[in-house]
Amino acid sequence: MVEGLTLGQLECLFTGSVWAEGPVWVPGSRTVRWSDIPNNRILEFNAATGTTSEYAVGVEFTNGRTLDADGSVVQCSHGRRRVERDREGTVTGLVDSFRGRRLNSPNDVVVSRDSSIWFTDPPYGILPGTTEGHEGEQEYGGCHVFRFEPVAGTLTAVVTDLVYPNGLAFSPDESVLYVADTAGPRHGVPLRIVAYDVSGSVCRRRKTAVELEDGHAADGLRVDVHGRIWTSAGPAVRVYSPGFELLGTISVPETVSNLCFGGPDGRDLYITATTSLYRIRTTTRDAAAFTFDPTAN
Ligand code: MG
Repeated sequence: MVEGLTLGQLECLFTGSVWAEGPVWVPGSRTVRWSDIPNNRILEFNAATGTTSEYAVGVEFTNGRTLDADGSVVQCSHGRRRVERDREGTVTGLVDSFRGRRLNSPNDVVVSRDSSIWFTDPPYGILPGTTEGHEGEQEYGGCHVFRFEPVAGTLTAVVTDLVYPNGLAFSPDESVLYVADTAGPRHGVPLRIVAYDVSGSVCRRRKTAVELEDGHAADGLRVDVHGRIWTSAGPAVRVYSPGFELLGTISVPETVSNLCFGGPDGRDLYITATTSLYRIRTTTRDAAAFTFDPTAN
């Protein structure tokens, strides 16, 4: 628990995934939608009824997702090697190639206030023996963070100095982009979250970063309205200040992949962790541009 930031106990809402990841709160249906990646399906937890159902199956191994300006869902597909939009159940591709070569397997995504779509592209969905996509080649020869401008259709590599960029989130004023790198010691780098100063499509790496111990990947992360970073970290969620001071830890019985704020007032933290979906009440909410904000209405 995190003093002053969480209230009550962690609840388990659903168990039955193989690997749960990529949650987002969908205000229109008052549901949490997330990926059960190896089972190739999308699940939804209905906060009003407390029940979980399959939202879609045969989804080409979706992973991370976020909300767009119109409330539709933008999500990553390992299998289609693309970022796509789900507007009330109709799924359309947005971007699948960089300079004529296919993306690796987009993993996580955020939408900024100018409606550009920022996403990470590690190779987890194309690695040999993967159960989270289809084996394939890394065609453009890297693992970048990209910015896609949907109106112009332009794709820009904005971060090219990480090994396996994974979760990502902006600071409340979008001047800083936080990116998790989950490559880890096997690839000669620490598990870490790296901060970049953002100006347009230019990202300048800051000296500040947080390094996590082996086995505690910061897979998915979110930033709250006060700029605090809420990240997965092995069997826990950790909360850091904007300067990466550790503020507290929420212990979770399983390895955490990702998390999102949601609920009727936006202050419930939903956590995907291996087989299960968990929830804990907080005193804050998400800073993301198009997250549900009940105070805005
Ligand atoms: Mg991820």
